[in-house]
Amino acid sequence: MPKGPWLSWLERLDGIEEVVGSSPTGSTMAKRIFLTGLRPTATALHLGNYLGAIRDVLAIQEKGAPFFLFVADLHGLTTEDPQKVAANREKILLTYLAAGVDPQKTIIYYQSALAEETLLLEIFLSRFFSVAQALRVPTLKEKVRQPRQASLFLLRYPALMAADILIQRATHIPVGKDQEAHLEVSQLLARQFNRHFGYLFPIPRPYQTQGVKIIALDGQGKMSKSRPQGAIFLNDHPEEAKQKIRRAVTETLAKPPKEMSPAVASLFLLGESFANRQEKEQLANMRQEYFRGTLKFVHLKEVVGQAVGRFLVDFQRRYQSWQQKPKLLATILEEGNRRAKRHAQETWQLVAAKTGFTLPRS
Ligand code: ATP
Ligand code: MG
Repeated sequence: MPKGPWLSWLERLDGIEEVVGSSPTGSTMAKRIFLTGLRPTATALHLGNYLGAIRDVLAIQEKGAPFFLFVADLHGLTTEDPQKVAANREKILLTYLAAGVDPQKTIIYYQSALAEETLLLEIFLSRFFSVAQALRVPTLKEKVRQPRQASLFLLRYPALMAADILIQRATHIPVGKDQEAHLEVSQLLARQFNRHFGYLFPIPRPYQTQGVKIIALDGQGKMSKSRPQGAIFLNDHPEEAKQKIRRAVTETLAKPPKEMSPAVASLFLLGESFANRQEKEQLANMRQEYFRGTLKFVHLKEVVGQAVGRFLVDFQRRYQSWQQKPKLLATILEEGNRRAKRHAQETWQLVAAKTGFTLPRS
């Protein structure tokens, strides 16, 4: 076991059992456990992921409640090649750390580190989930439109997600609007399990996040990994990012405009998120200019580019600095995996006790 600052981390997290409790009376179960994850489907995340997901992660870790943060590598396998997933997951880990996730406050781990416990729980949960119900989950409905091509693993996605959450007995799940249907499945399966086998799982609830949405720079929907042409990635060269911002679509200003277009509102949001004090003032003035119909978009883009560029320089410096510490990185991952797995094993023991289904000793 590593010495030094790790010790306080481990000691503090040893309190989780108390926090979660295992008594069905529920009195000790009121405490919060946060859990969320990101799929390693790309080599880098973009500013939309950063502002819409990672920034919430940073806020949650300051709450002092147990927080499980994972790289959803098994979920990555629903659509990506295993080699790609394996290569990308360390990049997500580095991204979390460079963004400011503190491994002394947050348990960071790979979903696959607890594959056994999670998949076993998924089996039990799946018994309460029919194929017809799975086909009604909105995000799946889209993807499984061609059943001949859609893999069976994809169909298991909602039940696996429920198992990710319930294996840690998590109570608060930061989710975007697009994920709410999945969380409803997790709630349903937790209730069914409790009803059938006796109370074990707190019902996980959505945790209200700031809910920002960044529009793609080419104005085509939201910024997204799968449409790189409209995205600024966290590993883009700062000059390249500025170029992209200069080319961003805006609008022809009516005089005076009534309502700001989502594309322009998103540019303001990007700028304001990373601005220093002087830039904040400039942007506040530009907002007024916009509503007077006098704003020159080149000026807006210049300030936004400057603020975003500075953020990228800082972020990339921190990313590289973590990259240069492979031993520390390995220790963080090892400890995170170990803590997460231990807690998952405890849940599995409780599941085994409730269901009467224990594994044979090997
Ligand atoms: P893909 O194109 O593969 O779906 P994505 O860019 O949509 O990738 P996800 O992995 O689906 O990213 O989402 C990761 C997290 O980032 C989610 O919490 C999602 O709500 C958030 N997110 C994704 N895109 C944006 C965006 N443009 N603005 C704000 N938040 C976003
Ligand atoms: Mg998406």
